[in-house]
Amino acid sequence: MRIDKMLANMGYGSRKEVKKLLKDGGLQVNGEVIKDGKVHIDTEKDTVMLYGEQVEYKEYIYLLMNKPPGVISATEDGQDETVIDLLQLEDQIFNPFPVGRLDKDTEGFLLITNDGQLSHQLLSPKRHVPKTYFAVIDGEVTEADVEAFKNGVTLDDGYETKPGDLTILKSGLTSDIELTITEGKFHQVKRMFESVGKRVVYLKRLTMGPLELDEDLELGEYRELTEEEVTLLK
Ligand code: URA
Repeated sequence: MRIDKMLANMGYGSRKEVKKLLKDGGLQVNGEVIKDGKVHIDTEKDTVMLYGEQVEYKEYIYLLMNKPPGVISATEDGQDETVIDLLQLEDQIFNPFPVGRLDKDTEGFLLITNDGQLSHQLLSPKRHVPKTYFAVIDGEVTEADVEAFKNGVTLDDGYETKPGDLTILKSGLTSDIELTITEGKFHQVKRMFESVGKRVVYLKRLTMGPLELDEDLELGEYRELTEEEVTLLK
């Protein structure tokens, strides 16, 4: 791959900026200063140093965040902090974005990547990727709700949901539940409970497809997915 393309792909600047960086002598390949962006390198074998720091080539970044409440799952927001603002700057150079949306007050599993194709696959309604949520509900969740969710419920806009798999963990004045759904309509979990006259007071996503939230991650923390995890997602 051409060295200027590699650096631009990795977010080190526009082609013009990369050209300047090379002209300034900031780049070394296998110990030799390279000023010509047309030089080809082997991304597996060659050692690339940028201003004295080694650069590992990768095109995509895959991050799993435990989204905290109060933060928007978008790349930019005029008002509030976004999940991208929580990333370290070296991860931001990849221009990653969140895969789908969690509400501002929802916590938990959020995938952040710059792999548009994977994001598209995971969000495609055709793929029915299951997502499991833990929720605290104001009110007593009953077997009748489990049955209603199994058959699909009608949301406030008339949309009939696909079956949802509802498990009651604790039932009482407030109830703890887990719900697995295979769709991602706007505010879907909250609206499914509204359809049976109940209110979600706490919501956390636990899984997406084959991956689970890493309980070692504190709210707002994130880590890169392993290669195995990325393969499982695809
Ligand atoms: N369903 C909701 O209601 N909110 C979310 O953030 C995710 C699913």
